[in-house]
Amino acid sequence: MNTTTRTLAASPAHPAELALGIPGFTFLDLHRPERLADLHRTFLEGLRGADAALHERWMRHADGSARVGGPAESTLLIEVSRHVSAFVARLFRIEGAVAARRQALTDRLIVYRVRDRFLKKVVKRVSLAEGQRPEDVHARAAALLDALPGRPGREIDAEERFAMRVWNLLERPADEAAVAGRQETVAQALEVLALSFKLREEAHDPSLSGWRMLRKPHELDWEHGLVHHLRPIESLPEAIEGSPKLFRRRDGFKLTDRRANDALVMNEIDQCVFCHEREKDSCSKGLFDKKTAKIAQNPLGIDLNGCPLDEHISEMHSLYAEGDPIGALALVTIRNPMCPGTGHRICNDCMKACIYQKQEPVNIPQIETKALSDVLDMPWGPEIWLLTTRWNPLRVERPYALPHNGIHVLVVGMGPAGYRWRTT
Ligand code: SF4
Repeated sequence: MNTTTRTLAASPAHPAELALGIPGFTFLDLHRPERLADLHRTFLEGLRGADAALHERWMRHADGSARVGGPAESTLLIEVSRHVSAFVARLFRIEGAVAARRQALTDRLIVYRVRDRFLKKVVKRVSLAEGQRPEDVHARAAALLDALPGRPGREIDAEERFAMRVWNLLERPADEAAVAGRQETVAQALEVLALSFKLREEAHDPSLSGWRMLRKPHELDWEHGLVHHLRPIESLPEAIEGSPKLFRRRDGFKLTDRRANDALVMNEIDQCVFCHEREKDSCSKGLFDKKTAKIAQNPLGIDLNGCPLDEHISEMHSLYAEGDPIGALALVTIRNPMCPGTGHRICNDCMKACIYQKQEPVNIPQIETKALSDVLDMPWGPEIWLLTTRWNPLRVERPYALPHNGIHVLVVGMGPAGYRWRTT
């Protein structure tokens, strides 16, 4: 290493001098094709050291001697993308930021675990006993919630405060004391909380409004329009306007699009059933009519072709569900290195072809934008995205950029058509 080389943590330093977290590489090396080849070899050696069997399967897939497709390819991509993510985190010395993001995202998933194990099982079977008064049940539930341990600083709202306390009980033996100094066992405490919750739900308690664990996707209304609208002038029924609740006022040149936050994106992820496992990921491959085996159309006559770039969508969702935006982005950039220009801004062909054809589909573009934004918000975020466009081990046809061969390409079209990108 050059004696003038500094580490990423040291500043100020010229980027060319910065030493990365993988020994022997500087920031400038990430822009030199021959060094990208070295970086790729280093990654593969690391993969072999971490998991020799996975390395063997990957190498045989990548060199074409035993290339796999369908669910086996998806599984392989997911497994290797976790290693890509860890390698990138070490390269830029951002393991702490990556771990914090993983924690923040996986914390958001706890409400769905509570929905599955508490709402669908415990709440479903409890009811008021003869002579039992709702106000007494609520008082006991409130006292329990106050006494149970939560996760201070990790609960973003009342729903998560509730869910994390219920989760604490679900993870413990049923006959243990729920809280020191109180009479209820864990099983009894769960029943009290379940009954109180059920009574609140039945009474349409407004404080439960917007709880993610209670979300029910809307059915699609093809007859009356997919976008909810009003007809405000009785004498002019053709005049329509959007719901005032959804108005977004423009302030100067600022974007009116507020983007989805962690909780909203995890709501979408929760709805996805990871269809790549059954080779049914129509969001990526298109939805086919079972009778004709041709591309299906929706009731508006639109072909359901799925993603025009054949992005690995379902696999990307799997990585994001693990709280790994870097791995998710690496999966996106296999087919769509220009994702900052697409995401939820351009098209929703993927969404239209989602297996949910009768209810709101999974909002894939918002998830893709969020995976990218999470990475861009990390230290060295733009450099990480740019690196995945020049070096991405998951892109087996061309894992790293070659030296410039003198050919220039004119890209015609500013939209997705101009982004169409092939490696073969
Ligand atoms: S987005 Fe829809 S089609 Fe795609 S994997 Fe998820 S549920 Fe399946």
